[in-house]
Amino acid sequence: MLLDCIIIGGGPAGLNAALVLGRARRNVILFDDNKPRNAVTQQSNGFITRDGVAPTEFRELAHQDLRKYSTVLVSPAKVTAVRQINGIFQATTEQGYNFVARSVILATGVRETLPAVRGIHDYYGKSLFSCPYCDGWELRDKPLVIIADHESAFFLAKKVYNWSKDLVFCTNGLPLLHPQQRDRLRQRGIAVIETKIAALIGAGGMLKQIHFEDGFKVERAGGFVTPQWTHASPLIDMLACRSDEMGVVAKDHYGRTSVPGVYVAGDTSFQPPAQVIVAAADGCKAAIAVNTDLVEADF
Ligand SMILES: Cc1cc2nc3c(=O)[nH]c(=O)nc-3n(C[C@H](O)[C@H](O)[C@H](O)COP(=O)(O)OP(=O)(O)OC[C@H]3O[C@@H](n4cnc5c(N)ncnc54)[C@H](O)[C@@H]3O)c2cc1C
Repeated sequence: MLLDCIIIGGGPAGLNAALVLGRARRNVILFDDNKPRNAVTQQSNGFITRDGVAPTEFRELAHQDLRKYSTVLVSPAKVTAVRQINGIFQATTEQGYNFVARSVILATGVRETLPAVRGIHDYYGKSLFSCPYCDGWELRDKPLVIIADHESAFFLAKKVYNWSKDLVFCTNGLPLLHPQQRDRLRQRGIAVIETKIAALIGAGGMLKQIHFEDGFKVERAGGFVTPQWTHASPLIDMLACRSDEMGVVAKDHYGRTSVPGVYVAGDTSFQPPAQVIVAAADGCKAAIAVNTDLVEADF
C-alpha cells in the first residue's frame, strides 16, 4: 500500500505530525523505537497544560490521541534505511519489512555527548541539565555548577545566573575562557575553577560535591552542562538533503528540505530552542507542509 507519509521518530515532533496528518485524513505510519533524548529525566516542564509531566506520560497521552484516527498506524520498529525510488520513499525496518509512501518526515531527534567527566551520566536529567528554561526553576537559588567543555558555556553561565547567583564555573582543565570572560564571571561573584574534575559525588543522581584533581572540593546541589549534539540517526544522510552554511540540514519555515517530499521536524533540524513544545509545533508545521504539497500535486 502506498502511504501518504512515513514519519520516523515518535517524540513530540513526530507525534504531533501524526496527529495533524490523521486529522487531515492522510494514511500514515509512525515508526518509533522509543529512545528519546529526555528519557533520562523524570519531568518535562514549560509546555502549557503539561508543565511537569513525565515524558512517559506525555507519550501515553499522545498515543491515546492518535488512537482516535484510524488512518494513523504506530509501529515500535526501528527504521534502518530510507531511500527514494522514482519519487517514492521506501523505509526499511530492522526486521527487514519495507514500507512505501509519497513523503517522509524525519523526526528522529539528536544524541548528546556530555562533557568528559567520569560518572556524569548518573546525574544528567536528575540534578545536572542542559537547558535552564526546562529545569532552571527547580534549581533556583541553589548552589549550582556549570560544567563546561565548550565556549558556549560562558553564555550558559550568564543565563543561569538569572536562576541562581550561587554559581561555580568549571572548565574541567580546558582553556575555554578569554581573560575578559573570566573577569566578568568573577566580578559577578562566580568562582572559576580551571582544574580537571576528579569525581562527582552524590547519591541517586543528586549531586552533592565536586572533587578536583588538585584535592579541592566544592559543595554543589546541581547545575548545567553544555552537551554536543549529533543526529540520532543516519537516515538524514541517506536522503542526501542539502546542508546550509551552518552545516545543518537546510529547510524552509515548514520543514521542507532540499529533497522534494522530505521534511524535518523537532530537534533533528538543530534549530534552537530545543524544547518539547517547539518540537511539537515543528511536527505540526511539517504535517501541514506534507498535506499542502500532496493537495497541490493531486487537485
Ligand atoms: C535531560 C533533559 C531534560 C529536558 N527537559 C525538557 C523540559 O523540561 N522541557 C522541554 O520542553 N524540553 C526538555 N528537554 C528537551 C526535549 O526533550 C526535546 O527537545 C524534545 O524531546 C525533542 O523532541 P523530538 O521529537 O524532536 O525528539 P525526541 O523526543 O528525541 O524523539 C525522537 C524519537 O525518534 C526515535 N527514533 C530515532 N531514530 C529512529 C529510527 N531510526 N527509527 C525509529 N525511531 C527512531 C527515538 O527513539 C525517539 O523516540 C529535555 C531534554 C533533556 C535531555
